[in-house]
Amino acid sequence: MFVRQAGLLRNLGTLLQLRQMHLLKKNAYINGEWVSAQSNAVFPVLNPADDAVIAEIPDMDAADAKIAVDTAANTFQTWKDTTAKERANILRRWYDLCVKNSDNLAEIITAEAGKPLSESKSEIVYGSSFLEWFADTARHINGEVVPSPWPNKMIMVTRQPLGVVSVITPWNFPFAMITRKVGALMAAGCTCVIKPSEDTPLTALAAVQLAEEAGVPKGVINIVTSSRKNAPAVGKVMCEDPSVGCISFTGSTHVGVLLYGMAAKGVKRVCLELGGNAPFIVFPSADISHAVDQAMLAKFRNNGQACIGANRFLVHKDVFDTFVQAFKEKISKNCILGPGTKQGVTCGPLINLEQTKKVTELVEQALSKGAKALVGGKPAAQLGTKFYESTLLTEVKPEMRIYKEEIFGPIAVCYKFETEQEALQVANDTRSGLASYVFTKDLGQAFRMSRQLNFGMVAINDGILSAAEPPFGGIKESGIGREGSKHGAEEYTDLKYTLFSGL
Ligand code: NAD
Repeated sequence: MFVRQAGLLRNLGTLLQLRQMHLLKKNAYINGEWVSAQSNAVFPVLNPADDAVIAEIPDMDAADAKIAVDTAANTFQTWKDTTAKERANILRRWYDLCVKNSDNLAEIITAEAGKPLSESKSEIVYGSSFLEWFADTARHINGEVVPSPWPNKMIMVTRQPLGVVSVITPWNFPFAMITRKVGALMAAGCTCVIKPSEDTPLTALAAVQLAEEAGVPKGVINIVTSSRKNAPAVGKVMCEDPSVGCISFTGSTHVGVLLYGMAAKGVKRVCLELGGNAPFIVFPSADISHAVDQAMLAKFRNNGQACIGANRFLVHKDVFDTFVQAFKEKISKNCILGPGTKQGVTCGPLINLEQTKKVTELVEQALSKGAKALVGGKPAAQLGTKFYESTLLTEVKPEMRIYKEEIFGPIAVCYKFETEQEALQVANDTRSGLASYVFTKDLGQAFRMSRQLNFGMVAINDGILSAAEPPFGGIKESGIGREGSKHGAEEYTDLKYTLFSGL
């Protein structure tokens, strides 16, 4: 009890600090103004560690979304004609300001998303790197002159910005999921309306405050905040308004499919980054100690709430016991639960009650059907309503929900396999296709895995694979399109072909 109260007091201290911060904005942002909802409605943003209200912000609806889309459409008429160099310079200044304000941004992330401060700081480094990358990329969105089949004629191919992009983002990386999209679309010459997750809108608003300070012209970035209740009405305008050229969404496959359907009505471009179900395969030749270290990162970063987080550990029978024993020891020693503001904590709360309920049910069902919990296996209710023990399960069978579903929580599930073919078959037996991980010292096996795993991303002997440089994205029901890399900005352009014919 005393421990809980001490934690609450510490969080209160953080809350008071936050309230004095110039980055803590409590209004939405349209056409360069910090605005309320037309209806004046508000909703609370909660700290998942202790349920304290951090701020009340506008609960916008379709009417507000329409104003934001119209603003972005008007601004596009001038923004599209800025030079690549101007856009690059603005993005670079935004990057510099994010780095300079990383401590304050990290505190806001921890307050509303719950992750430990060290992880929030890493997210700022990672998220800012996209602004830096797209500042460079802006000046390299090249066209081409193609050899013509006709004499006296020339074929010129250019890349045109798509127009207004509707950006809808999740709560798990509330800063990086925005910079990864907005850096790219601004580099391409597009404008946008962002609808951040109702759980983590304050990070988005803080990032845009810095964008304003960096000189992003008013109307280029607009933010509509809304509660979950109003998300469908706001989303409908953002997907169906004729001025919108592209819907860029990161979130669950379920919502992605809904938005894809709405986009289809207007034959609009989509960029969808959806759910994952990553296999983490350990072969007998692997360095087991290294594999366990990487498993900790791939599973417990952000307390398991990552789309590329390892969802299924497939371990060869010859090294299964060694791997599981070492993994169990690492989890018991390194997973320290508590509020993200507390020194030494490595795993914060889950984001909300739905997420906590889902994880609890998945584990309960697995245990009732014969799974074994070697560590954890239940909510850590003594810490708060949204804490769950870091858990390691074995003896999991295909009839259990946890075998197929994206867990999105701190539950590591281990299966034993006997042959490479079996590992591949189990790994590919999912409708998701985002990230996958393989641990082996056999080079031939590494190449075979790279070729045969049906995933957009394959990491060999590594548990972290995301950066600004490579193309991030999935296949199958994990999405369409790529973020980061030289391809990221091209997602927000159309190819235009002009024929010059000599008279
Ligand atoms: P979610 O799909 O529930 O919500 C995402 C966003 O969509 C939120 O802003 C939400 O308000 C909004 N939304 C919900 N219903 C809507 C509607 N009808 N119309 C318009 N907008 C609507 O996802 P979440 O719970 O915030 O995030 C977790 C999911 O995101 C996981 O499945 C995870 O795998 C996925 N994710 C994917 C990636 C990736 O890059 N592939 C990255 C992070 C998270």
